Amino acid sequence: MIPFLDLKEINMRHEKEITQSITNFLHSGWYILGKQVEEFEKQFADYCGVKYCIGVANGLDALSLIIRAYGIGEGDEIIVPSNTYIATILAISANGATPILVEPNLLSFNIDPKAIEEKITPRTKAIMVVHLYGQACDMNPINELAKKYGLRVFEDCAQAHGAIYDEKRVGNLGDAAAFSFYPGKNLGALGDGGAITVNDEEIYQQLKAVRNYGSHRKYENLYKGVNSRLDELHAAVLKVKLKYLDEDNQARRNIAKYYSQNIVNPLITLPLVEQEDDVSHVWHLYVIRTDDREGLQTYLTSQGIQALIHYPIPPHKQKAYKEWNEEEFPISEKIHNEVLSLPISPVMTLEDAAKVVEALNEYKKAF
Ligand SMILES: *Cc1c(COP(=O)(O)O)cnc(C)c1O
Repeated sequence: MIPFLDLKEINMRHEKEITQSITNFLHSGWYILGKQVEEFEKQFADYCGVKYCIGVANGLDALSLIIRAYGIGEGDEIIVPSNTYIATILAISANGATPILVEPNLLSFNIDPKAIEEKITPRTKAIMVVHLYGQACDMNPINELAKKYGLRVFEDCAQAHGAIYDEKRVGNLGDAAAFSFYPGKNLGALGDGGAITVNDEEIYQQLKAVRNYGSHRKYENLYKGVNSRLDELHAAVLKVKLKYLDEDNQARRNIAKYYSQNIVNPLITLPLVEQEDDVSHVWHLYVIRTDDREGLQTYLTSQGIQALIHYPIPPHKQKAYKEWNEEEFPISEKIHNEVLSLPISPVMTLEDAAKVVEALNEYKKAF
């Protein structure tokens, strides 16, 4: 069986270093907001090329706290792609703001910058981009629009740690950015974790307090804050794994390149990489499209290949968003009906990739 993602193997490569780091943490006797988080925040900010990083409990909180920090809420609108993972949209709703869905580019899956302007109203406060499946969005036209209309730009980087656009890393392409360290992400912890990156010092100071009960100093509360801290334990692990992130992303690129060069089947559409260089994509997922997606998935399973669907139901068709159920986002709907994610990871071998390619190239419609 070729697994979709072998998380155990990914982490076991670093068993010694991770165990050592956890042992140091255990022996330190300090388990919340200490040296581990502080060091990781510094290292991750440096990696992304930003001034500040704030570790938080998960990616959803990172998104939600950013929106809060910029004072966006009731009566405000935030533009967001119609085909993202639901967390991006939940973060907007959690702040009482209204998500305004914008259709993606069918081939790259990322928000279509040309479709944004007509959705801007006097209530629009920000554009939330999502670097979906690991590919950096085309940020120049988006940042120009934001400048023209006085909007904030926030990045959902939960799938794109390390991707580079125009010589800058994601996380440094807008006003503030959210990361998730959910175990399956390109940089994953051994549980939930997240981070915010930002260059604005005031926002940084505010967020550092807000994640910790709104407290900047023990028992003194500047804000009605929350408890959303990155655990020392996870920071201890992330410090180790961050060192290998570029290498891991390169290994993913090698698999992706192999797929793109060798999968040839008229029934299958391959993902489009928008930028000429290959650093803009870190291939969190390698997503193909096909008419009979369930048929292809069943066929691959019969060939011992695990393929998954990201994601089967578009946000506007979710029961949680009943108010949108009758609306139409045809590109997003087509994507959600046709996508299938192939196995890809830093520990996947080219031999296994070759087996996937062979199976796909031999695939014919069953009827
Ligand atoms: C994983 C993910 C999130 C949420 O991150 P969590 O840490 O699971 O809360 C948000 N947005 C996108 C695009 C994601 O893939």
